[in-house]
Amino acid sequence: MKDESLWIQDFRHDPRRSGIFLDFDGTISAITPTPGGAVLHPRAAEILPDLARFYPLCVLSGRRVTDVASLVGLAHVHYVGVHGMEWLEGDEPKMDPEVLPHLPSLDRARSELLESLADLPGLVLEDKMLTLTLHFREAPHLEEEAVRLAENLALRLGLRTKRGRMAVELRPPVEIDKGTVIIRLARGWGLRRGLYAGDDLTDVDAFRGLRYLMREGGFEGVAVAVLSPEVPVELEAVADLTVQGPEGLLDLLERLRTE
Ligand SMILES: [Mg+2]
Repeated sequence: MKDESLWIQDFRHDPRRSGIFLDFDGTISAITPTPGGAVLHPRAAEILPDLARFYPLCVLSGRRVTDVASLVGLAHVHYVGVHGMEWLEGDEPKMDPEVLPHLPSLDRARSELLESLADLPGLVLEDKMLTLTLHFREAPHLEEEAVRLAENLALRLGLRTKRGRMAVELRPPVEIDKGTVIIRLARGWGLRRGLYAGDDLTDVDAFRGLRYLMREGGFEGVAVAVLSPEVPVELEAVADLTVQGPEGLLDLLERLRTE
């Protein structure tokens, strides 16, 4: 990858064709013990509106799109939720049509999970309608139990599982992830370069999306791992650069301001 000051120059000289893609939790927020507790970092609230005036800016989260949009609360940002399965068009949440046929299986999984959870205190179900995430952050001893539960349901109902940080997710068997979203948006927006910053396993997919575009040619990708004590080694290993927490990322984003 190019020297840091060089790619920053490229972004600043050609912002319209330079996309900025950001995860939310642990990236432009602070991680909290419960999924409900995160807030936008105050410095992000100050820097992002400036960036959004010049760069295509996308916040791409595992949360519901309406949830992440209201947490960030900024205009001129493209919001994508549930790892790419839904997005906002104006104020309207839109679901990827590939997901629709799997909604009945997800409903079934939801009711079975709720029944099982009655006997497993400490496991928390995060229901995003399109995915169901079992969090064992507050009951780490139940990790195996949670994973087995999710895998059995996935097998029986034709769903898939995916590991996250202190969590396991049930999801429809569709090839949609943060990487496919970046590829679609970069093509749609005619981008020549893009930066993605994230802190978790699902962000490895986004890095892979950048690599894919680079292999196609005419595209420069910058994969940024936002470090914390919990950051998975898989993410750090494939990043172009690392920053120390949201503060470090905001220092970097600050340098992309064009004036
Ligand atoms: Mg995150």
